[in-house]
Amino acid sequence: MKPLAGSCLLLMLILPTLIGLGSLLADPPDRDQGRSAKASASKATKAAKPGVRVYVFDKEGKLVGPVESPKFVLSVTEWKRRLTPDQYKILRSKGTEQPFCGTLLDNKKEGVYTCAGCGLPLFSSDSKFHSGTGWPSFFQPIAEGNVTHRTDRSHGMVRTEINCARCGGHLGHVFEDGPKPTGLRFCLNSESLTFTPSENLATLADPIVEKSEHGSATEKDAPADKPEKAQPEKLEKR
Ligand SMILES: [Zn+2]
Repeated sequence: MKPLAGSCLLLMLILPTLIGLGSLLADPPDRDQGRSAKASASKATKAAKPGVRVYVFDKEGKLVGPVESPKFVLSVTEWKRRLTPDQYKILRSKGTEQPFCGTLLDNKKEGVYTCAGCGLPLFSSDSKFHSGTGWPSFFQPIAEGNVTHRTDRSHGMVRTEINCARCGGHLGHVFEDGPKPTGLRFCLNSESLTFTPSENLATLADPIVEKSEHGSATEKDAPADKPEKAQPEKLEKR
């Protein structure tokens, strides 16, 4: 019994030291791993550009997709530099233009309506209809993923706001009183749109198409530069 008690006592004395030593030995690598994991996670977050899957035009003026496109993000100052005051008020501050005043309301030309903020194709003249509301109206977007929906509870109403999927710009609202085949009415602000006639669709060619064909997109060639070239081509009010 005595030797056993003796070794127990010895163990009791040694054990905490062993545990302490063990944790000293074990902890540093763990902590380092944690740090490096966190560091690489944060690097990954920085490197990974949250993208959207959208349809865009290629060099032949053909709508292609879905392709992965980086989100289009600008600071307030950059947006103000890029947009006219009216465009800024609608697209970035969720404004609404006066009915029957929009430059694209009565546009009956064939072509495509793109986002005035980032150039993403949003609606085709094929789905435009006369709603009598005073705002350009469409029964469907050019591609499902190019327009996103969000519940809007402002002004004491519950409405569904529609936004550009790439830059988040406010476009208008969608209502369920539209014509066939969808029964939807996408109610737009002219100021949030840029019209390009059918014969000029190749000018909407998005560099992201070429990048996705070659397997990689670089930040340098992101579609951010494109809308600068495609300045709003508003029709004169008729
Ligand atoms: Zn946009």
